[in-house]
Amino acid sequence: MTTIADLEAQIDDSAWGRLLRDVVGKFGSPNIRTVATVGGNLCAASSSEDLIPVFLVLDAKVKMIRKDGTREIPLQEFLVAKRKTALRADEILAEVSFPEPSARSACSFQKLGMRNILIIALVSAAVFLETDDARSTITQARIALNRLKGKIPQRAESVEKELLGHKLGEGTIKSAAERLGDELALTSDFRASVEYRQEAVKVLLRRALADCQQGILGK
Ligand SMILES: Cc1cc2nc3c(=O)[nH]c(=O)nc-3n(C[C@H](O)[C@H](O)[C@H](O)COP(=O)(O)OP(=O)(O)OC[C@H]3O[C@@H](n4cnc5c(N)ncnc54)[C@H](O)[C@@H]3O)c2cc1C
Repeated sequence: MTTIADLEAQIDDSAWGRLLRDVVGKFGSPNIRTVATVGGNLCAASSSEDLIPVFLVLDAKVKMIRKDGTREIPLQEFLVAKRKTALRADEILAEVSFPEPSARSACSFQKLGMRNILIIALVSAAVFLETDDARSTITQARIALNRLKGKIPQRAESVEKELLGHKLGEGTIKSAAERLGDELALTSDFRASVEYRQEAVKVLLRRALADCQQGILGK
């Protein structure tokens, strides 16, 4: 029952609060945010649901309840296919939880559409980065894109692995965005061509990584 407008009230200077600022500001319009729920967003399980990449990079788990019990699974397992989740007929999604991001981490969400409000994402990218104590070497990286396989947002796992152990900096960011090309399986539709999406997704990933870098170094 938590709405996007409820999330708006949690915006602050923490990694989670700043991530919310990125998402909420580009989510529908004020009237949509008043009625749209977190649960409905995840259960819709499609490529245009903005909270899916966000919770994927936070390594979220979802709790489902039924009359006689509960179960909790990673969000990644919950998302089975486009418009298909692991929910059984007698269950509802009741809770989303994730580990609190450390002070050495930052998150970013970037979304590209045709307008500034009521945006259906042509491409979107969410990134979580964590560094060592010196805030220099990447120790954890999670990247989720809404168009990786064209159906539901997914993690770009090979790029994530490539980032580990590298210094946080412009060179690393540039080469991560270039490597992304191998993982993409984009499709054309009436909103954008494959060629456009290919370029746009790299730009968004670069922006998200640079935003994380600023978040980590600026702390
Ligand atoms: C004009 C417009 C603009 C929009 N803009 C955006 C946008 O910018 N970003 C974005 O991500 N989405 C956007 N949406 C899509 C939609 O508003 C969101 O996905 C919203 O979060 C869905 O939540 P809801 O509560 O309306 O879910 P519903 O649409 O009511 O539910 C979706 C599905 O999930 C099921 N369901 C809902 N909650 C649960 C639960 N807790 N447990 C089990 N099943 C459940 C429902 O039965 C239904 O099958 C937009 C929609 C409109 C109409």
